Amino acid sequence: MTGLPGYDLHTHSVHSDGTTRPSEIAAEAAALGLAGFALTDHDTVDGWAEAREAAHAHGIDFVPGIELTTMHNWKSRHLLGYGIDPEASELMAALVRVREARFDRARHMVDLLAVDYDITWESVVGESATISVGRPHIADALVVGGYFADRSAAFAEVLHPRSPYYAPTYALDTFDAIGLVRAAGGVAVLAHPVAERQSTPTPPESVREFARAGLVGIELEHPENRADWLPPLRAVAAELGLLVTGSSDYHGAGKPNRLGEHTTPQATVELLRAGVATPR
Ligand code: AMP
Ligand code: FE
Ligand code: FE
Ligand code: ZN
Repeated sequence: MTGLPGYDLHTHSVHSDGTTRPSEIAAEAAALGLAGFALTDHDTVDGWAEAREAAHAHGIDFVPGIELTTMHNWKSRHLLGYGIDPEASELMAALVRVREARFDRARHMVDLLAVDYDITWESVVGESATISVGRPHIADALVVGGYFADRSAAFAEVLHPRSPYYAPTYALDTFDAIGLVRAAGGVAVLAHPVAERQSTPTPPESVREFARAGLVGIELEHPENRADWLPPLRAVAAELGLLVTGSSDYHGAGKPNRLGEHTTPQATVELLRAGVATPR
């Protein structure tokens, strides 16, 4: 579904690489007339409590979520997990490993960049509330340093995967991640499967394999999905009975994506919730 009302099921706050607080996202969602939203910060659930409290104060619904960067056969896939138990030990231990790796990787990239740009580790993490550091935080330091106009320009010039300043980071295997989300009582949804920036579309056969491993939904309505790559995925989603979600991938000022630009109908959210072990 494009536009309002409904739920925006994919947003990021200052707890990962968004630029607004969870309470601000809740206020904006309510002002837009959304029925609810999910906070899906990268590799952390730190923003949930504030988001839930603010959502309820504004009289809208809150869906707790997370976005995991995963990899299988050298293909990067982003996975959304909804309704996971924040005490689930296996998943939480995996998140600690991922965040530690993110930290080491970001430090390494800053060391590489510091040869040519006047940036310091302090300028990258100094002001940040996040425990899940990523390239957007490095981009922000480069923007503050006057080198680039915005995050997108920093990504296009020096932070993209073929850049000499790029370093890879440890990612969970896609199938392991689906298993961890399920073991944590949550439901797994494949994020932006045909985003422009993934140089190839996710093939329908991979979606079938993920579904066999327990994937329940697919984010077909997303501003970065390429329209011409969508038809085969719409077909496989219908064939498998996957839930189709819509979201903005809002990052505040960090990306052009607008809150609520794609949404998920209430009925789909209810079906997602029905798949959560202990409804949250
Ligand atoms: P990382 O997690 O460190 O690999 O960084 C990836 C994150 O950077 C993604 O979650 C996006 O939100 C963000 N990102 C990727 N490309 C861009 C871009 N061109 N402009 C702004 N943010 C971007
Ligand atoms: Fe992000
Ligand atoms: Fe993503
Ligand atoms: Zn995202």
